[in-house]
Amino acid sequence: MHHLSGIYLKEDKPTIIEGKTYYTFKMMYPQKEREYFVEDKKEYDDWIKNLSRAIGYFDLSTKYEIGPKLGNGKFGLVKLAVNKQTGQKLAAKFMTKKEMSNVDLELVRTEIEILKICQHPNIIRIYDVFENTDSYYILMEYCDGGDLFTRLEKTKFKIPEKKAANYIHQILAGLCYLHEYGITHRDLKPENILMSDKSEEATLKLIDFGLSKIIGPNETCTEPYGTLSYVAPEVLMEKPYNKQVDMWTVGVMAYLFCVGFLPFDHKDEREIAKQTMCDPTPYPSSYWNKVSNDAKLFVDGKLN
Ligand code: ATP
Ligand code: MG
Repeated sequence: MHHLSGIYLKEDKPTIIEGKTYYTFKMMYPQKEREYFVEDKKEYDDWIKNLSRAIGYFDLSTKYEIGPKLGNGKFGLVKLAVNKQTGQKLAAKFMTKKEMSNVDLELVRTEIEILKICQHPNIIRIYDVFENTDSYYILMEYCDGGDLFTRLEKTKFKIPEKKAANYIHQILAGLCYLHEYGITHRDLKPENILMSDKSEEATLKLIDFGLSKIIGPNETCTEPYGTLSYVAPEVLMEKPYNKQVDMWTVGVMAYLFCVGFLPFDHKDEREIAKQTMCDPTPYPSSYWNKVSNDAKLFVDGKLN
């Protein structure tokens, strides 16, 4: 007897064993997988049909009209989805299980569990999750304004201080909420922040919780993660770290907003790591003498 809650069903190509064809599927548990071989195609189809029903798979197209592509994800596309009954516009993140390892599947599950908890104006809202034998679909709030990286590119990454303060305030509001739940984002960067609409007053929304982790109040963690230029030194040194690592990243982003370049940056990744771990934060005066003392104190505090 096997319980089916939280398992994944993966249909594989037929396997030939000693000249005989077997129809093959896998049941994937977090720590292990079981492979099944069925001699008869009809019997195989029955297994898939009944297991799918028992696991609770749904058909996306009965509820949503799928529209144009919004972006590329690691395991598939993000597309516009319109609720057929209400007309509400959402973003649907498609993920193909075939390309995912068991670890990847766990990361997706973490992302979904975290998003289900979060209800905050600066964190992307999740509305629905669908799954079938080969894909996963996350339906979330639709953001029409693109990501913050693309928005910053238009002004060569430098923005007026008032605007920078407003952006940082919104990012911190989202982070503060996450941290109160014991969730560390761990992959913050402008690419993972979306703008609610195209206007100048758009709300910032944190996305991409694939690398997030729930770390208890007195717990620490040592696994490496994240995008090099934004990563805190304790992570690179493989020292125990906690939610404070997100604050370092806020410092890196605030630095970028103030002067238009990153504090620790180089063609060679090893050099970025070395700068982050060993060098004092550089404040070249030709750029920083145009920035207020308050802003500089904030940045330096976060990068301390
Ligand atoms: P990567 O690892 O490359 O960041 P990913 O699998 O984590 O990919 P996301 O970052 O969540 O995928 O989404 C990929 C892209 O799809 C985003 O950069 C963005 O352009 C678009 N996108 C994602 N979510 C939304 C949304 N809610 N509204 C509008 N566009 C979105
Ligand atoms: Mg992303």
